[in-house]
Amino acid sequence: MTMRNALQQLEQEAISAISSSENLKDLEDVRIRFMGKKGSITQQYGLMKTCPPEDKKELGQWLNQLKEAYNQSFEAQLEKLKKDELHARLLSERLDISLPGRHTHTGGIHPVTRAIEEIAQVFAGMGFEVASGPEIESDWHNFGALNIPDDHPAREMHDTFYIADDPNGGRRVLRTHTSPVQIRVMENRQPPLRVIAPGKVYRCDSDVTHTPMFHQVEGFMVDKGVHFGQLKGLLESFLQTFFEQKLPVRFRPSFFPFTEPSAEVDMACLFCNGKGCRICKGTGWLEVLGCGMIHPEVMKNVGMDSEIYAGFAFGMGVERLGMLKYGINDLRTFFENDVRFLSRHAVY
Ligand SMILES: [Zn+2]
Repeated sequence: MTMRNALQQLEQEAISAISSSENLKDLEDVRIRFMGKKGSITQQYGLMKTCPPEDKKELGQWLNQLKEAYNQSFEAQLEKLKKDELHARLLSERLDISLPGRHTHTGGIHPVTRAIEEIAQVFAGMGFEVASGPEIESDWHNFGALNIPDDHPAREMHDTFYIADDPNGGRRVLRTHTSPVQIRVMENRQPPLRVIAPGKVYRCDSDVTHTPMFHQVEGFMVDKGVHFGQLKGLLESFLQTFFEQKLPVRFRPSFFPFTEPSAEVDMACLFCNGKGCRICKGTGWLEVLGCGMIHPEVMKNVGMDSEIYAGFAFGMGVERLGMLKYGINDLRTFFENDVRFLSRHAVY
């Protein structure tokens, strides 16, 4: 084999190694193999020393051609592999901006909580504080102290959940109203008292307009010289503030064992302005509250002298007021926790 052939073969070898290198690391190995310090092309330059002087020129040209061919092929492959690697990296790091984002659901205030907060806010503005009491209540606090003796028909009306007796003796119930909080506060504190007590109450009843658990707000005020006129003014002002409308309010005589006299409070229908519609059953009025002057028996039961002090009390259903204010027409939706309902009526 002539020198020329040997160099051409080396060139073929190098070019084939370059073009079959699949990444930059392979290509670097090829460079070391052919053009490194001991690379097979580098070594060919040693031939110049041993070559007869008359052939030197020709050998020099061949070596230059070899080197040039090598460089051209090497640079082209280097470029290509760099491009490939960049492309692969871009693919792997690609963000698909057309993908829908991850949904985060923001929590909101449940309409029952919202109604309680709004009610409490109106009364706070009139100097009332908020109190709470246990949901498992003694028979005495739920009934006896409120002038509802054992044989009283009101016990039937309340559809009470009776639970296991207190280990220390005494019957216990799930409270049927928030009025026992009034008893607990009056037992332990002295007038003047202005208190509201929002909370859960339980009755063994379930249909379109009743759920076994619902919410009430009890309110009362006890002081010297408290009278019914103050009660009327307070509730009228509360209703007009809560419903944000100056609607007529009326008081109808009624009966509760724990108040005397007692009244039910109606407000002109929000939906027809008192003309009569389906919601007010054609009467033009909506029943919204019960109230009255605290019964002297109740005052006696908590150890307050009804000759010195007088008080009034009132109670309202939170879901009822919420339904009227927020336009909700099925009581049960409050407790089904359907997110469609909640997202429509919750406050964010
Ligand atoms: Zn109406």
